Amino acid sequence: MTSVSPHKKARALKSTSRRPAKELCSECGLCDTYYIHYVKEACAFINQQIGELEEETHTRSRHLENPDELYFGVHQDMIAAKKQQPIEGAQWTGIVSSIAIEMLNRGLVEGVVCVQNTKEDRFQPMPVIARTPEEILAARVNKPTLSPNLSILEQVEKSGMKRLLVIGVGCQIQALRAVEKQLGLEKLYVLGTPCVDNVNRAGLQKFLETTSRSPDTVVHYEFMQDFRVHFKHEDGSSETVPFFGLKTNKLKDVFAPSCMSCFDYVNSLADLVVGYMGAPFGWQWIVVRNDTGKEMLDLVKDQLDTQPVTSKGNRKEAVQQSIPAYDKGVTLPMWAAKLMGVVIEKIGPKGLEYARFSIDSHFTRNYLYVKRNHPEKLEAHVPEFAKRIVGQYKLPE
Ligand code: FAD
Ligand code: SF4
Repeated sequence: MTSVSPHKKARALKSTSRRPAKELCSECGLCDTYYIHYVKEACAFINQQIGELEEETHTRSRHLENPDELYFGVHQDMIAAKKQQPIEGAQWTGIVSSIAIEMLNRGLVEGVVCVQNTKEDRFQPMPVIARTPEEILAARVNKPTLSPNLSILEQVEKSGMKRLLVIGVGCQIQALRAVEKQLGLEKLYVLGTPCVDNVNRAGLQKFLETTSRSPDTVVHYEFMQDFRVHFKHEDGSSETVPFFGLKTNKLKDVFAPSCMSCFDYVNSLADLVVGYMGAPFGWQWIVVRNDTGKEMLDLVKDQLDTQPVTSKGNRKEAVQQSIPAYDKGVTLPMWAAKLMGVVIEKIGPKGLEYARFSIDSHFTRNYLYVKRNHPEKLEAHVPEFAKRIVGQYKLPE
């Protein structure tokens, strides 16, 4: 008699059904598959278990007494890098796409889970298993919306693939790591990006409409290290809006509840993380978490300019002041916002200190959000490292 694996008995939820994590669901895609069988254990918003999964993935959890690990998670190296020849149309210089292409070309993996967009809408995510470099390139650039990347997990099993690369953000990767052993793979590689303040498609529209001068022509945006949001438009023109001028009163409800309760900004469970916030402006920031991550980065080292990470300034005052401002939904007049942006850019936190600024601001905000909206979850849902980070600040009641 052949045995039936337990998840085969479970049924994916209909796309319209309420998810087990209810309003906190980040639409990671797990519940669109028969792996929903594991949801109570695997969902990042039902069962936060970063410490345990760090141990399984990297052989140890982060050293809380090491200030860099407290903030950036388990790692053996951190560098700033950029592609000598950037990929046209990538989010930054295209390091993520380049690593994926190299892994496929060298036969390290048979497929790459990544997210393209639909034909009709450049910001509507469409997860795929890419099997050619062209399909990987078609997934370049951020889809700044919640994306059900794990919805293709059933296809992975059906395809019979044994070696797979998954590209994804923290909540997707946490659920993936929790079901990794059930996937029947010989080798799973995980290439992560940091992620924060994501939105659903309707929320994205509201954000673009309240912030950009021409919401319909935006092709790309990023909250950058110069304390401005940079928009790129279809005609190649750019637009910048200072963070301090954002209409926080209108934007308060835009971010998805999952992202308002997330403490895995730096994608703790990926093998390799590629972002930008710990690097100088124009460079990308790379965190090598384990030997698998090192193997992945080594594949593209000859295509990169690199430099050591640095840190300058002191974020603490700026973070403390931003807490009540966000809480009360204060928006500065545009002239004052611009002035504040200029001053803080000149004297403010740079490099790793900028990354800490961003982590502190988001963790304090999210801690207050969970405390007010889901007080019963606060103790178990906030990881110890985040409690320590938040504990450095005075929070309003
Ligand atoms: P590219 O070569 O352009 O490849 C981008 C890859 O991202 C593609 O493979 C695609 O599959 C994947 N992807 C796109 N959208 C999604 C999505 N919604 N979910 C999962 N995977 C996706 N970095 C920071 O340092 N600080 C931040 O605050 C920060 N916030 C981010 C918020 C979001 C919503 C996202 C998706 C990313 C964020 N990043 C952040 C990461 C950063 O913006 C870049 O994605 C990263 O530096 C890689 O750039 P690249 O040019 O190498 O990527
Ligand atoms: Fe399911 Fe993912 Fe939503 Fe959790 S976040 S309920 S695992 S789809």
